Amino acid sequence: MQGCLGVLNAGSSSIKFAIYGAGDDLPLRLRGQIEAIGVAPKLKVSDAAGRTLAEQGWKANELDHAAATLQILRTCQELLGGARVTAIGHRVVHGGTRFAAPLRVEPGVVDALGALVSLAPLHQPHNLAPIRVIADAAPHIAQVACFDTAFYFSQPWVAQAFAIPRAFSEAGVRRYGFHGLSYEFVSSRLRAVAPELAGGRVVIAHLGNGASLCAVLDGRSVASTMGFTAADGLMMGTRCGAIDPGVLLYLMDEQGMDARAIEDLIYHRSGLLGVSGISSDMRTLRASVDASAAEAIALFVNRIVREIGSMAAALGGVDALVFTAGIGENDPMTRASVMTGCAWLGLEPDAARNEAGAGRISAERSRVSAWVIPTDEERMIAQHTFDTLHAFETGAGE
Ligand code: ADP
Repeated sequence: MQGCLGVLNAGSSSIKFAIYGAGDDLPLRLRGQIEAIGVAPKLKVSDAAGRTLAEQGWKANELDHAAATLQILRTCQELLGGARVTAIGHRVVHGGTRFAAPLRVEPGVVDALGALVSLAPLHQPHNLAPIRVIADAAPHIAQVACFDTAFYFSQPWVAQAFAIPRAFSEAGVRRYGFHGLSYEFVSSRLRAVAPELAGGRVVIAHLGNGASLCAVLDGRSVASTMGFTAADGLMMGTRCGAIDPGVLLYLMDEQGMDARAIEDLIYHRSGLLGVSGISSDMRTLRASVDASAAEAIALFVNRIVREIGSMAAALGGVDALVFTAGIGENDPMTRASVMTGCAWLGLEPDAARNEAGAGRISAERSRVSAWVIPTDEERMIAQHTFDTLHAFETGAGE
């Protein structure tokens, strides 16, 4: 592949991006984001060492999602000097039951992915919009869609099915799983830093604004706390996680809430924010002296520990527990509480290593090892994009 490779990770109010140079090891050249689209859009671009190279702001109505995509391309192209961006990989949250691997975007692909919008209405439209914009404005750039759901195709049927009549599951109502690109990246890093665990039973905890667990056996997912949507499983920044479906029926019948009001409640007003009444941000809760902040964190940890038990059962035991994402990588107190709750599994933390927060954080004698491995979804997408286009150019992907 010639030229630079870009990655776009587009959400409802932000577009994160990264640019990698040519070469098999894909050296990082630029990384950044436009955040607060629709409110007060702000662009920031840094180099591989984290030095800021560009910053710019706009008024709410001056930069919509399409304009933001083109602005990112333009700014990166300027900062790259003579090098050209020839390929872009995209994070696409949903590949449905059809797309089990990254896909080169050709005519018809975006329509096929658009048919999955109803399965992920809050994410999929935002993921697809930049693909359309680039196909129109820069058709010479090759594009690849990388799916968050693809990592879960290996899961057994029992990990995918809900206990509802078959007609519903056949129509697509089943567990798909999310954060798959993060789990794939962390699994591959774990193989590099601890090769002895490559064939092992590993629970990975992706704890960020979104949070989930994945049970990985021999590098493949066997179970996940995420389900039909990214609202299931663990308690998150603003999402409730698993909830008795009877609660939703009660809210409809007794409180007159409709689907949109319940959507707002379970996606945007629950989790750490809803329980604390203060913030969805772990740093703010840690700094608070309010009892409700401590209770919210206690519930967050309790849900993680209990679900680790479920992942352990799916794996038939655990060899390693890995923490990743914003809270998993940066909050030693959450890690310490979770590890204490996992003592019954044979996990003995090393307090000093946990404070330091890198690599192995369990005691040498611990039967189950614990690790901190920073995730990098953008690099996983870059690698998939490179491999997909390479296979296509050499004929293997046709
Ligand atoms: P997203 O799912 O949006 O990518 P992140 O992975 O960036 O989220 O995680 C965001 C969460 O990480 C927030 O709750 C934030 O408070 C938490 N976080 C980031 N840095 C720290 C830190 N130093 N200490 C505690 N929590 C942190």
